[in-house]
Amino acid sequence: MNKILFSHSYFLRFDPKQWKIGLPYAPLGTLYAAALLRDNGYQVNLFDSMFAKSADEIIEPLENTGADFFVLYDDGFNYLTKMCLTNMREAAFKMIHRAKERGCIVIISSSDSTDHYKEYLEQGADFILLGEAEIALLELIQSINKKENDFSPIDGIAFSQHGSIMKTKRRNVLKDLDALPLPAWDLVNIDLYKESWKKNAGYFSMNMATTRGCPFKCNWCAKPIYGNRYNSRSPENVIKEIKLLKEKFDIDHIWFCDDIFGLKPGWVNAFADLVEKEEIVFKFKIQCRADLLLQENYIKDLARAGCDNIWMGAESGSQKILDAMDKGTTVGQIYSATNLLKKHHIKPSFFIQFGYLGETKEDIEKTIRMINELLPHEIGISVSYPLPGTVFYEKVKQDLIQKSNWTDSDELALMFKNTYQPAFYRQLHRYVHKSYRTHLALANLLNLFSHPLKTNLKTLKKISSAIYYLPAAYFDKLKLQQLGK
Ligand code: SF4
Repeated sequence: MNKILFSHSYFLRFDPKQWKIGLPYAPLGTLYAAALLRDNGYQVNLFDSMFAKSADEIIEPLENTGADFFVLYDDGFNYLTKMCLTNMREAAFKMIHRAKERGCIVIISSSDSTDHYKEYLEQGADFILLGEAEIALLELIQSINKKENDFSPIDGIAFSQHGSIMKTKRRNVLKDLDALPLPAWDLVNIDLYKESWKKNAGYFSMNMATTRGCPFKCNWCAKPIYGNRYNSRSPENVIKEIKLLKEKFDIDHIWFCDDIFGLKPGWVNAFADLVEKEEIVFKFKIQCRADLLLQENYIKDLARAGCDNIWMGAESGSQKILDAMDKGTTVGQIYSATNLLKKHHIKPSFFIQFGYLGETKEDIEKTIRMINELLPHEIGISVSYPLPGTVFYEKVKQDLIQKSNWTDSDELALMFKNTYQPAFYRQLHRYVHKSYRTHLALANLLNLFSHPLKTNLKTLKKISSAIYYLPAAYFDKLKLQQLGK
């Protein structure tokens, strides 16, 4: 049995906000697993659910490929799959049913199935891969093909046996990431992604991972796939992939989807040297922490390599809340890092989180003040979302009886008891965006007066947006005050 049909359970259409934005990234994690199995002699196909309309679209590839194995392998690098959205879970369950009806052996790997492996087994899946899974998948398929009946020597899997659920030993993480083949990009219809990016952003961005895991311990952050380790590819190996993406797909931009980019000492410096030596021209964005963005040499190297935008896990403007989250950063560091990035023409963007346990009106005001003073390039606002395996989840799990997951990435429901009702946080989200846009417009207006010759159409547009945002923020604030009473 050597025919494997891969898929993943993220359907862009089932996530209305992301569908509207229309800037999808191909399922990188899936493509890594597919490449490894193909390198080991298996006949591999992919059903990319990204643009599909329904989970039933899996039927045709299941029948056309005559798959022996159906492997639903989510992209564990993408934060959207880490959210374990129920729309995607339902789609995954449907695909499991369709594959079982056609006699496939069904194997699942995802953040959601790692956390809820029993539910996935109850839906008919034969095996769940727990955590980082490429090697576990290969060993499992080899073992099935050898007609072995004892799967207990394979680390990092769960399965049903004689009416009970077996979970094997935790798998050691992969250390030598260069040993993996490059993702099987040829299995994806890149044109669909490119068209969407060009139409909605005017350029084409693809995703790459240079590391796995994050050693920090923010107590709400779930890392069911790559965990608390930190392993890097070599800069040479990363450059090889960038060159390939540029040659094959003519990319303009890369999202390095690592939890933390370039933490290994000297890595970014070596990477920037290679980018310059090979004369590769591209822009990229990364994620990082404020406390790691304070060294000028490091920032200079990032800028030299082409870094254009850094999403910083700022989270809150209140030190009390950062400490409660075990974030390990300070508000002062967020200010210093932002200023340093701006100095080197890298755009700082902030992830902001409202609704953490113990957050009061004063803490919220501090966060809004920080955003409006620092004026990051973009802000991504969420509300605290308890995911299994975190300290935060343990603290609030008694409140999660009615609901424990969002349906899509825009739901932003607060699912546990907190200072305010869920409606307050939804209104807060609206207000903060408008308040930020107003301050951005005013800052641009001030710039216009001080540097009139540097003004362009984009700046004028931003300034004129105040006509909408100023009154809209005012009315949103009134509504927020009502909800906060
Ligand atoms: S630094 Fe980022 S990825 Fe690492 S634990 Fe904190 S939130 Fe998670």
